[in-house]
Amino acid sequence: MKVFEMAGRPVEPVDSANFTGDGTLVRMDDVCTAPSVNAYRVTFEPRTRTAWHTHSGTQLLVVVEGTCRFQNDGEPVREVAAGGIVSIAPGERHWHGATPDRAMTHVALNIDAATTWLEKVTDREYGGLST
Ligand code: MN
Repeated sequence: MKVFEMAGRPVEPVDSANFTGDGTLVRMDDVCTAPSVNAYRVTFEPRTRTAWHTHSGTQLLVVVEGTCRFQNDGEPVREVAAGGIVSIAPGERHWHGATPDRAMTHVALNIDAATTWLEKVTDREYGGLST
């Protein structure tokens, strides 16, 4: 049994190349090594969201504060409240972030998953408009 505490871990700003807006990230690499599981606690300020991206393995988003706004390519923009989990299959093109009025924190669990970053999410896409 191993315990991975939050306290004392470096809090980094999110990478502006792959996010729109402001947020912070705390890494817990190698929570498990077989399969490889990396955990990232990410706090998104209001309106902040990732760029479009894919993962080579499953990603689980455990929403711990606020409401997560997210979209799988080709589907409507959706939201899930704290306590909910979004399960993203390998290869699904998607983004995730805060709602416009409130910060959101999720723990992302990346299971044997590398991330490929794509283009930024436009304000129209973030607002749920198709183009
Ligand atoms: Mn993702």
